[in-house]
Amino acid sequence: MAEPFPTTASESFHAVILAAGSGSRIGGDTPKQFREIAGKPLLRHSLEAFRACPGLQSIVVVAPVGQLNYVNDVAGEKVAISGGATRQESVRAALTALSHLPKDAIILIHDAARPCILQAQIVAVADAAARHNAATLAIPVADSLRRVAGDGDAAEFVSRDSLWRVQTPQGFRFGLLADAHARGQDGATDDTALVSADGVPVKLVPGSESNIKVTMPDDFAIAEAILQQRQTLTPRVGMGFDVHAFDHSPSTKPLVLCGVIIPHARPLAGHSDADVGLHALTDALFGALGDGDIGTHFPPSDPAFKNMDSAVFLRKACDLVQQGGGRISHVDITLICEEPKITPHRAAMLARLSALLALDKSRIGLKATTTEKLGFTGRGEGIAAQAVATILWPEG
Ligand code: MG
Repeated sequence: MAEPFPTTASESFHAVILAAGSGSRIGGDTPKQFREIAGKPLLRHSLEAFRACPGLQSIVVVAPVGQLNYVNDVAGEKVAISGGATRQESVRAALTALSHLPKDAIILIHDAARPCILQAQIVAVADAAARHNAATLAIPVADSLRRVAGDGDAAEFVSRDSLWRVQTPQGFRFGLLADAHARGQDGATDDTALVSADGVPVKLVPGSESNIKVTMPDDFAIAEAILQQRQTLTPRVGMGFDVHAFDHSPSTKPLVLCGVIIPHARPLAGHSDADVGLHALTDALFGALGDGDIGTHFPPSDPAFKNMDSAVFLRKACDLVQQGGGRISHVDITLICEEPKITPHRAAMLARLSALLALDKSRIGLKATTTEKLGFTGRGEGIAAQAVATILWPEG
């Protein structure tokens, strides 16, 4: 019964991680991108965040000359190419290595010095680059600003209104970025500056203070605290409940329960495939996330979701758990009806749920009960479902 299921739409992209700098402002012999932080080399934190993105097609790490083997070891695969003396030269080296890509491919450039990047932020930049051709994470400036004279005294006041700090990753159509680098002046501190010089608007995607660039010695302690806090996962529990009536209209829709087609006289009525079990489970996950419900994510007024396979809804909730750095610990579902009998289909339902959730069957509860002929389920008017989901979630 387990047919392939569609995953949530996510833009395909190629990633370049810049790790060629000498890290001269940090001090010490080891370049900062290779120093241990929260139990692994700084570079590996970014690599793992990118690799967790469903849209990632390929990855290139630009390494210091002479450090290719070391970087390949850190990455666990051959991804390293030699960088140049400046950031711009390093990006150019990556563009040359990726010159086989079509012009409309999406490429994301990220500084290895930002190890706290979240998967959800990477996905947001890739999606924005696909819609707007050029995009970057950025945050509004919160501090007051002064332009400083040569002797270090605070001089001219600078209004922070409409000023944003630009972060990475930055995403572009490959051809657009390659053209900007071919024409660009030396000295640009990031790739959006080069693209903007060509008159291309750059979409700002809200970043976060936690996406810190490890530049000065103190930054290591701040980044390490952020990464360690994320490694502490706290349990969260969400519950879901749903009811669908049997459909008495002439209909060719099948009855679908927990992702499995059940031979039965009547399907359930509903805008989607009316899979009451998956709806309750999906709402339990949205509840654990504290992120609305199935109706806010997939409005029933939207004709795009008509007769939709409810596996799509469930996968969206699963993707949100994963993208936030959490994981599903356990789910438990109760189907409430007089008919059909659930037991003959229970093994198929468990297999389907296990595949959809990417969760071992030992972590899935699936039960059925009647209501002793009482109420609407007892009269055989429809099916109800309850679900509880426990996730482990990085608070803060
Ligand atoms: Mg429903």
